[in-house]
Amino acid sequence: MTKKRLLTGLKPTGTLHIGNYFGALKPFIDTYEEYESFLMVADLHALTSVRNAGEMHRQILDMAKDYVACGFDPEKGVIFKQSEVPEHTELAWIFECLVTVPFLMQAHAYKDKAAKGLEANAGLFNYPMLMAADILLYDTEFVPVGDDQRQHIEYAREAATKFNNAFGEVFKEPKEVILEGVGIVPGIDGQKMSKSYGNIIPLFDSKEEITKAVMGIVTDSEGDVPKNVYAIHQLFREETSLTALYEEHKGKYKNLKEALAADIESVVAPMREKRESISDADITTILKEGSEHARSVASQKMAEVRKAVGIAL
Ligand code: ATP
Ligand code: MG
Repeated sequence: MTKKRLLTGLKPTGTLHIGNYFGALKPFIDTYEEYESFLMVADLHALTSVRNAGEMHRQILDMAKDYVACGFDPEKGVIFKQSEVPEHTELAWIFECLVTVPFLMQAHAYKDKAAKGLEANAGLFNYPMLMAADILLYDTEFVPVGDDQRQHIEYAREAATKFNNAFGEVFKEPKEVILEGVGIVPGIDGQKMSKSYGNIIPLFDSKEEITKAVMGIVTDSEGDVPKNVYAIHQLFREETSLTALYEEHKGKYKNLKEALAADIESVVAPMREKRESISDADITTILKEGSEHARSVASQKMAEVRKAVGIAL
């Protein structure tokens, strides 16, 4: 039986934290082999905000290394770089010619910017159509998303429908799979862990940095169980053993934090070691090979599109 196709994109911006790991990476790694999976490093999307070439290049390689270190096997799925497949921007243009400005004005990223009184660049305004192209070029059946990202799929569906109505059936409408993540992982201050809140526990930093972040978890002075520590700890230890540990060290916040740091270390250490074994040259080769594979799929689809709209000679 042929596997159904799945695509997921990641913006190479910033350092991964344990919220990203339990909310996005791990659920993806646990299921990607059930599908014909495409993992896209979305560097063109990152260009809506990154203005530094060195930083961009570093983050592309780092993001790809992160996924491989967490268990993605390039033999079992395709990892590729978006900008290596120019069909993405070509198809995005065609979609942009089909949807209206008021429709794009409803997109969350644009609305959030506008609500803050900031001016969005045209790339950010149009990005839902680039994302629609990312998905539709591969006849993607499933797109794993967090609950907050359903709108992306709705935009892709709308682009597919508009195109099919105008030019005939070329695109499949994608479905979303809501990843069974762990819900929202809290940060060291108890709010959602987010890189933009500066409250993260990094995933691949040194043992010392991770320990420092854990020691900085905000604890309330009431009660025996420091709830912010416990909420993170339950991701790393099963309940019976966790309850016993918190019983044994009742009220001793420092001991409990040390135990958490040690538990994080035991999960992270093998991944960190794997990550350090991947050179820049290794990951560049992996990305180039994956991109060639992706392009061979995308260019066939694009030939169909050019014919359907009448621009093929
Ligand atoms: P930003 O502060 O810039 O929004 P972020 O830290 O929220 O960054 P994103 O890049 O927005 O991270 O998210 C990447 C993925 O990680 C998404 O799938 C998102 O749902 C997931 N994720 C982010 N933060 C958490 C969290 N605290 N708990 C669970 N999942 C998370
Ligand atoms: Mg976020």
